[in-house]
Amino acid sequence: MADITQTCAQCGKKFLVIEVEQEFLKKKHLPLPALCPTDRQSRRLSGRGERTLYKTTCQECGTPVITTYDPKTVTSKILCRTCYQAFFDKNDPVIP
Ligand SMILES: [Zn+2]
Ligand SMILES: [Zn+2]
Repeated sequence: MADITQTCAQCGKKFLVIEVEQEFLKKKHLPLPALCPTDRQSRRLSGRGERTLYKTTCQECGTPVITTYDPKTVTSKILCRTCYQAFFDKNDPVIP
């Protein structure tokens, strides 16, 4: 499986769906995200309340995080913004 380049439905920017994310979505039978991480985040923050939020802690550094993933069922890592960013930086998702 390779990284997939998606075009954001909101701002038209390209973003990567990395392999681990694809695997996670596949496991959950979820479609690939239509929005770039930035727009997904701002949509989440604008909160229409249609999603359940869970309080948990970052699996890297232990910082409390609010996530839309249920920590009891999620199989991927739950990371705080900083570790998430670091994770993506490490995996070089930047599109030139
Ligand atoms: Zn976008
Ligand atoms: Zn963290």
